[in-house]
Amino acid sequence: MFSNGRRRVTGPAIFMDRDGVINRRRADDYVLEWSQFAFMPGIREALRDVSMLRLPMIVISNQSAVGRGLLKPSVLQQITSQFHRALLEQGSSLTAVYYCTHRPDDNCSCRKPKPALLNKAAADFNIDLSRSIFIGDADTDVQAAQAAGCHPVLFGPGLSSSSGSLDWVADLPVARTAKELFQVAVDSLRAANRLSEAVTPLRIQGMPQALIKPLRHPMS
Ligand SMILES: [Mg+2]
Ligand SMILES: [Zn+2]
Repeated sequence: MFSNGRRRVTGPAIFMDRDGVINRRRADDYVLEWSQFAFMPGIREALRDVSMLRLPMIVISNQSAVGRGLLKPSVLQQITSQFHRALLEQGSSLTAVYYCTHRPDDNCSCRKPKPALLNKAAADFNIDLSRSIFIGDADTDVQAAQAAGCHPVLFGPGLSSSSGSLDWVADLPVARTAKELFQVAVDSLRAANRLSEAVTPLRIQGMPQALIKPLRHPMS
């Protein structure tokens, strides 16, 4: 429970997709158990760096395997706590994870490319979407980000598209590898927060300090 009700102060956040960003997509299949969850190469280190910005890091993911009856909600929860714990061990803490578990033909309001999960997270954590980024690997992530008024960042060697064409990638910030992700994320946040090039993350004892004034966010 939040003791002070809704805070009026809002700040930026880092949203990210799950499959194809945190873990590898499985070719034509879902991640149905923890043993099938393989982290993307270098992503744990990249997210540790990103978490040093001390902004909320929130996962927004479609998991229609639940709605299709292939994945029990309890198993999805188990997989979620497993990767959350694995990331914690590497020094990055996710603020929250939001899933749409509907099937596409349910026509729900929360399945990406619709922005409802982003809007829900923004309301829950007092996030200013216009100052936030959404790291994704698919056109549906970009569309959800744009529909919510936040800034898309593409990540991954294997960007995916429902239409087959990659024209939509043009003009978007792209990090092809996890090594590039931190800098691309910082640049995009800087642009979204209208910070000058002069503002760079300071390194004190090897630790990048918060680029943007950290805000206290209620933890779920
Ligand atoms: Mg994806
Ligand atoms: Zn949904």
